[in-house]
Amino acid sequence: MVESASAEHFGFRLLQQNAFRLPVPEENELHLRAIAASPGIAIGKAVLFLPTAVEPLGESARPPDEWERYRKAVELLQQEWMQAKAVAAMEAPSVVPIIDSYLHLLTDAVLQEQVRALIRAGGTAERALQQVMEPVIGRLSRSTDVLLQERGSELEQFLHRLLLALQQHRADYTRVAGAVVVAPAVTPSEVVLLHRAGARGLVTAVGGITSHTTILARSLQLPAVIGLRGAIATIRERDPLIVDGYTGTVVVRPAPETCRRYERHRDSTQWRRRILARFAKLPAQTADGRCFRLMANIASLQDVDDALTIGAEGAGLVRTEILLLHLGRFPTEEEQVQWYREVAERLYPYPVTFRLFDVGGEKYADSIPLERNPALGLRGVRFLFAYPEILRAQLRAILRVATSNVRVLVPMVSTVEELGRVRQLMEHACRELGGEQQGCRCSVPIGAMIETPAAALIADRLARISDFFSIGTNDLTQYTVAVDRTHGHLAQLFDPFHPAVLYLIYCAVEAAHRHGIPVGICGELAAHAEATELLVGLGVDELSTVPAAIVPLKHRIRRISFEQARRRLLTFIGETVERATR
Ligand code: PEP
Ligand code: MG
Repeated sequence: MVESASAEHFGFRLLQQNAFRLPVPEENELHLRAIAASPGIAIGKAVLFLPTAVEPLGESARPPDEWERYRKAVELLQQEWMQAKAVAAMEAPSVVPIIDSYLHLLTDAVLQEQVRALIRAGGTAERALQQVMEPVIGRLSRSTDVLLQERGSELEQFLHRLLLALQQHRADYTRVAGAVVVAPAVTPSEVVLLHRAGARGLVTAVGGITSHTTILARSLQLPAVIGLRGAIATIRERDPLIVDGYTGTVVVRPAPETCRRYERHRDSTQWRRRILARFAKLPAQTADGRCFRLMANIASLQDVDDALTIGAEGAGLVRTEILLLHLGRFPTEEEQVQWYREVAERLYPYPVTFRLFDVGGEKYADSIPLERNPALGLRGVRFLFAYPEILRAQLRAILRVATSNVRVLVPMVSTVEELGRVRQLMEHACRELGGEQQGCRCSVPIGAMIETPAAALIADRLARISDFFSIGTNDLTQYTVAVDRTHGHLAQLFDPFHPAVLYLIYCAVEAAHRHGIPVGICGELAAHAEATELLVGLGVDELSTVPAAIVPLKHRIRRISFEQARRRLLTFIGETVERATR
């Protein structure tokens, strides 16, 4: 996260020992910045993991022989990926479905049939495979949807690995032990096998924060920096490297003093992680007794288990749209019922907040017609109103599993009418299901996500028809400072500590409390070490973040005085308003 002048001014730096100040580059060392994909510090020599060139295609052999060669290549990759799956099952079970999806693609009947037909028509296996896959990859890569672009780049790697397998190429993982792997891109199963072979860290030239590779690196706790475009041109084989997965920094050829500083940082972080584990069962209470509910953001059943293990008190945000990622389509009502039931039951009696599908913008936009400006278009609740059958199925599914702990959260709200309309549709769905007489719990609390400046500014009116608020600081920042949250070059301007963002959060929290409804934060700011005192001072009721961030967050809360945090917050807000109106 970018250092923020406003945070500095605000003085929310009490927990300096948690924060690591990036050293000023020493002579001859190079500091590169890209996306912080997986937290942790890795120090080691660079091993360049460059894709082996696929040899020029030869003449076609007899079609039966070509088909046999294709089958053998599929088997070879299957073996490698089954091995990755077995490792993942032991070390990070939540990522097994990702590897499974690659295994399914490998033996996908349609893909096989198309390749076979082209081989029969006289093509080589390589040519057939390229003819089938390249148009799909091209379409995905040209998409304006970041997620689709990522899927395109993943399919490209899939194709490349299959082409190499056709030439009986086996990847050599032995040389990566103790090293930092630098690659243009890696497939999810490669991440697992690199980790298994002892790689300490990962740097890639392409990839986004939502890519499968990133998800895997995080699950395996492999420090990673991705999207470092010049990586391959700048880093040489055996170059000493430091990968700082907290800040997205890669230090190339670090000076001895820089190494020592990072080693101390790495060791103290690991030590702190172990100590913090002991705090799982303690209440999230400030030193002067103010309690907060710490909840988890959930994107998988594994997250649910992790949340319970570290003592989360419910789910502040269940990202239901994750089902689209797994299925590649909208889930049916029955599929939703199954998954929602499992999540709600495992967390019972803690509150579970199902956010309605938040698609559009940069997210899962494949079902949406291309728009000129998708972040400002059919996104969140707007998308759902445009596709009423999808919304109806989701509301019905939630109502069918609704026990006393279930809540519904509406994304991308910008008007009061939107929330009123969801409420009406919910009532309608409840009647369809036979109402309370049939055991349908129609009084499910409905909350508004405060993630547009409009919602924050009309929070008083929204609070009248909401049962709770949840502040999405990621989008609230994006829309307030007018910076695309996925924009690589403008990351410096994407500042959740910007006084304008903080002021909007303050307005929303105060409005919620004036109307007696609870308010939480579910964006990344909740986990930001420098924001904790600020959020305590705001007096939010709930903080929801990824399970891994909950224990450190609780640790920080327990060392803060609410009274002092509140005084500082009010001074800051007073100064902000005064400056703005002077
Ligand atoms: C947010 O916008 O802060 C949020 C929590 O939602 P998402 O990141 O899924 O858009
Ligand atoms: Mg959001």
